[in-house]
Amino acid sequence: MAKILCVLYDDPVDGYPPQYARDSIPEIEHYPDGMTTPTPSGIDFKPGALLGSVSGELGLRKFLEDAGHELVVTSDKDGPNSEFEKQLVDADVVISQPFWPAYLTEERIAKAKKLKLAITAGIGSDHVDLQAAIDNDITVAEVTFCNSISVAEHVAMMILALVRNYIPSYQWVIKGGWNIADCVERAYDVEGMHIGTVGAGRIGLAVLKRLKPFDVKLHYTDKHRLPTKVEKELGLTYHPDAESLVKVCDVVTVNAPLHPGTEHMFNDELISRMKRGSYLVNTARGKIADRDAVVRALESGQLAGYAGDVWFPQPAPREHPWRTMPHHGMTPHVSGTTLSAQARYAAGTREILEHFFAGKGLRDEYLIVERGKLAGAGAHAYTAGDSTKGSEKAAEFKKAS
Ligand code: NDP
Repeated sequence: MAKILCVLYDDPVDGYPPQYARDSIPEIEHYPDGMTTPTPSGIDFKPGALLGSVSGELGLRKFLEDAGHELVVTSDKDGPNSEFEKQLVDADVVISQPFWPAYLTEERIAKAKKLKLAITAGIGSDHVDLQAAIDNDITVAEVTFCNSISVAEHVAMMILALVRNYIPSYQWVIKGGWNIADCVERAYDVEGMHIGTVGAGRIGLAVLKRLKPFDVKLHYTDKHRLPTKVEKELGLTYHPDAESLVKVCDVVTVNAPLHPGTEHMFNDELISRMKRGSYLVNTARGKIADRDAVVRALESGQLAGYAGDVWFPQPAPREHPWRTMPHHGMTPHVSGTTLSAQARYAAGTREILEHFFAGKGLRDEYLIVERGKLAGAGAHAYTAGDSTKGSEKAAEFKKAS
């Protein structure tokens, strides 16, 4: 019998939904590269249900309890007295979503003597100190591709929202106004703009494909170059590094994982290389941008807008300056947790658990760390190290509420 500790975000303030806006979600069997969507032996939830919050339990309770395991679900994840930290000491498996990350720091890993597996129900395992996972032989796995398209759609939306000044225009309607000049004094078309992505993996490439019909000029930089055929089809300009890309782009989107090689990449220096009035959209990880450099750039006009859904730490403290900086389009971390995405990553989490309990290897594409080293997808996209430093500040959110 194993103890599975699952950290999920809170239910809606009005309670767990009795019904949904739509009756079904589309069935998707393959991702764009041909990889199959998750293949668990079965599921005990209705796709389209809210699974990522505490009462949704990722649809795992029946499956785990029928097999004799213990499932503990909590949203109380930050600080030394949190339920998570109490339950962690004898947990075999930890499951957490990047939207409400249970930070697995070196200190916490040291307390979790039985921990064998950390599953990211989603994509992006930077909330785990990967170096500590490597050193303590903990397998880290994520549900690769489960929400990459969800995020790509969000990026396209945010680019359009910023460039066309959508959010302030919407607010004028709510305020009862008809202030056209106020709405349009910062509104442009994206047509003809140079748009570049830092990272052209599953999300980055999907963003490029979605933007192509807008008749823009597309750019990318990545550790590995895309096939020539893809570059030609999309008319892509490859850049050897982010600096070369940002110099020529009007809009930059970040779609790389957070690891020591990308932490604080968008600092004062790199932002100063961007064209004045550029837009920056970051749905990858908050820490890839230097928090205060972004604020300074928006205040000075170096950036015309910043949008994204990722912060550091999460939840962002009430006084986090990105809540109030000018010309931003921030949301809480939501782009990868649509009801559509939840169905995929809940099924993917179950697939990983089924393989783990059966002693079968996990899909290579799900692996980030295994047997004391970066493995599978992790060996491709990450570098070893720790990006969790400072995560203890997430506890401040609770104190302020
Ligand atoms: P992929 O692994 O498919 O793509 C990441 C890409 O980034 C890879 O092509 C990788 O290169 C590239 N990369 C890594 N380091 C660098 C670097 N220093 N400079 C340029 N490129 C780099 O992952 P996804 O596209 O599916 O997801 C990307 C990230 O987006 C996740 O790691 C996660 O942090 C974030 N995310 C956010 C979500 C949200 O809800 N906001 C949901 C899902 C993901 P290569 O592999 O070629 O070495």
